[in-house]
Amino acid sequence: MNRRLAPGRLVLATHNPGKVVELAELLAPHGLDVVSAGSLGLPEPEETGDTFIANAELKARAAARASGLPALADDSGLCVDVLGGAPGIYSARWAGPTKDFAIAMAQVNTAMGEDGPRTAHFTCALSIAWPDGHCESVEGEVHGRLVWPPRGDNGFGYDPMFLMDGRSQTYGEMPRSAKEADNHRARAFVKLLPLLPPLKRHGDDG
Ligand code: IMP
Repeated sequence: MNRRLAPGRLVLATHNPGKVVELAELLAPHGLDVVSAGSLGLPEPEETGDTFIANAELKARAAARASGLPALADDSGLCVDVLGGAPGIYSARWAGPTKDFAIAMAQVNTAMGEDGPRTAHFTCALSIAWPDGHCESVEGEVHGRLVWPPRGDNGFGYDPMFLMDGRSQTYGEMPRSAKEADNHRARAFVKLLPLLPPLKRHGDDG
């Protein structure tokens, strides 16, 4: 089946403004304008999956079904080794109903304790779904360690406490372009591109 992406016809199935910015910038060089699920008034489905990919797929499928358009969803989170991978798929929930990541970061730091390894990774699952239910999914990871106290005001979520391997600045201190050039989302996106059918670019006809 020919599943093309018409210009301006890809829904970003996320209500997280930080993810909308990062995904829109990853997609921009490919000639696609994007519209967010929030701006279309699409409801946020409950994340009932028990893996990043299961949650990304249910969000992408729900947005594609509701909008009648192809939809790209991200499910991502911080996995801390000493916590057995927590908060993982519950990363957003650790911030509570007010989505306060100062609280979430403090909870992670307290749960980690004084001793033990500070290693952690971010995982990002990206799923693209079409209104007919077809779905493709990939995952990307970036490894590093968690610092305390958090450093920097850039980015979102757990960025101020994440220090990627080989870097001296946390994601919260890095300029946005540096974080976006190589993070879990960018690494997943590189894997997603070859799975997509030829993208219909601006100016194409038919
Ligand atoms: P969900 O995928 O909507 O369930 O939320 C994932 C949560 O993981 C976000 O709310 C952030 O707290 C965290 N997260 C995912 N990606 C990043 C990132 O790039 N930086 C910081 N935190 C992230």
